[in-house]
Amino acid sequence: MNSTPTKKVLVKTFGCQMNVADTERMVALMGERGMEPTENPKEADLIIINGCSVREKAVHKAVSFLGEQQILKKQKGEKGPIIALGGCVGQLDKGEVFKRAPYLDFVFGPDAIDQLPELVHKAEEGNRHFVQVEFDKTLAYSTQTKVHGSKAQAFVNIMKGCDKYCTYCIVPFTRGREKSRTIQEVLDDLAGLVAKGVREVTLLGQNVNSFGKGNPNTNGYEPKELHNPIGKVGPRAGEENFPQLLYAIEADPRLEKLKRIRFTSSHPLDFSDELIACYGPKEKGGVTRLAKHLHLPVQSGSNRMLTKMGRHHQIENYIAQMKRLKELCPEVGMSTDLIVGFPTESEEEYLDTRKLLDEVQFDNIYAFMYSPRPGTRASKLPDDVPNDVKSRRLNDLLAHQLTIAKTTYASRVGQTMEVLVEGLAKHQNMMKEGEKGRVWTGRTTCNRVVNFIDTTGRNYLGQLLMVKITGSTSLSLSGELVHDSGYAERNDGSVQYTSSYSSSEVVQ
Ligand code: SF4
Repeated sequence: MNSTPTKKVLVKTFGCQMNVADTERMVALMGERGMEPTENPKEADLIIINGCSVREKAVHKAVSFLGEQQILKKQKGEKGPIIALGGCVGQLDKGEVFKRAPYLDFVFGPDAIDQLPELVHKAEEGNRHFVQVEFDKTLAYSTQTKVHGSKAQAFVNIMKGCDKYCTYCIVPFTRGREKSRTIQEVLDDLAGLVAKGVREVTLLGQNVNSFGKGNPNTNGYEPKELHNPIGKVGPRAGEENFPQLLYAIEADPRLEKLKRIRFTSSHPLDFSDELIACYGPKEKGGVTRLAKHLHLPVQSGSNRMLTKMGRHHQIENYIAQMKRLKELCPEVGMSTDLIVGFPTESEEEYLDTRKLLDEVQFDNIYAFMYSPRPGTRASKLPDDVPNDVKSRRLNDLLAHQLTIAKTTYASRVGQTMEVLVEGLAKHQNMMKEGEKGRVWTGRTTCNRVVNFIDTTGRNYLGQLLMVKITGSTSLSLSGELVHDSGYAERNDGSVQYTSSYSSSEVVQ
C-alpha cells in the first residue's frame, strides 16, 4: 500500500520570546494542515525563517541562514522546499530581499501569521515573490493560543505592539500600536490550555504591563491609587489593566491546575506599585502563582543616556522599584536588558551602568552593543562610540555580571526548590563515568536553571519536583531530587508531554 509521506515544516527562529511564540503558532497552524515539525532543512518541504529586527546580529543571522538554504533549491529544483521569510525582518523588508535571494518564495509580517496556510497554498500553486505585510487595522486584538503537541509550558500573547517609541527601537514600526485582548478572552484561552495539560504560562507582549489600555472595564473594577514615583503611570479608571488580569487568573476556578504565571517584556513606566504588590504575600494582595521573577529592561545606568534613548524613566526610580520589589519578595530573581555604546556614551556613563549591576544584583543580564536600526530616530545620531570601545565595555559588563551572579547563585546552595522540568539537559556531563541515569533540566519559580540526575528512568518532562540545591555556577544550579512521591498521581497518563519545538536562537 502506498502512503503519502507526511510533509515537514522547519521554522527557524532568530529573535525574542515573541518570535518563539510566533514560531509555535506557525508550527501549530501547519500541523493542523498535516505538516510535522522538523529541525533538519534537508527533509523540510517548507522552511520559514522567523527573524527579529531589533538587533543587527539577529537580522544577520536570519539573512545568513536564508542564504544557506539556496543550495536546497538548486539541488532539488521543482521539488525543493518552499522558503519564506517572516517576523519583523519580513515586515521591514517588504520584499526587497527577492533581489538578493530570488530563490525565496514569499515574505510575510507578524500580523499575517494566521494567513500562513493560505500563503503556503498560494506558493504551492506556483505563485512566487509575493508579500503579505499589511498591518491588522482592527482596533481590537483577538486571538487564540495554538501549541503543537502537549506542553507543560505555553507562551500566551495578551497584547501586541508598542506605544513607547524608544529612539533606538524598530518594534513600534514592525508590530504597530498597542492593542490588548480582553481579560475574559485571555481567561478562556488559558482554561483551554490548562485542560490540555499546560501548567506554566508566560504572558507575552512588547510592553506587557501596559496590558488593557483602551479596553473598557466591565467588571466594576476600581484601580487602586498608585504612588509610583515616576508619576507617569496612573490607574486608568474604567479600563482593564495587567494586575487586574493577574487577580482574575488567580480567582478563576478553571485555572486551579495552572502553577506558574510569568510575563515578559515590561517597561519601568508601567511597573506600578499595584503590580509590585502582586509579588507580595497573599494577605497583602499578592498573586500566589505569579512566578518570583521579573525581567525589567533598564537599558542604561545613566540618566542622560536614558533621556537620549527616549526611555522616559530615571535610574533612581528604577532602583527604588527594584528595592521595593525585593523588600516585598526577597527570593525574587531579576533580569534586565542593557545597551552599551549608545551614541555619545562616555566612559563615566558606561561605569554608571556597571554600578547599577552592583546596586540591583541581577541574576542575569542581556547586554548588547548599540547598533543603529534603519528608520529609528537614534539612527540619525552619529554612531560615535568606536567598535573596539563598545566591545570592551560589553565584555567588561558581562564579566562583571558573572562575578555578581556567582555569589547570587552560590547563596542558593542548601535550599530546596520547586523545579518545573523542561527536558533532558543538553549536556549530560554531570554524570560520573560508569554512573547510570540521566540529567534533567528545569527552572525554579525565580527562573533559575536547575540540573539534576535521575536514576529511576522515569519520564519527568512537565513535572513539578522538589530539588535540593547542591552546587552552583554563575549561570545555573545543580541538585538532587528530594522525592518524587507524587509521581504516579501526577503522571496518571492523562497528558503525555512533548518537548518544546526548539529550532530557535533567542536574542532578548
Ligand atoms: S518599550 Fe521596548 S518595544 Fe517599545 S519602543 Fe521601547 S524598546 Fe521598543
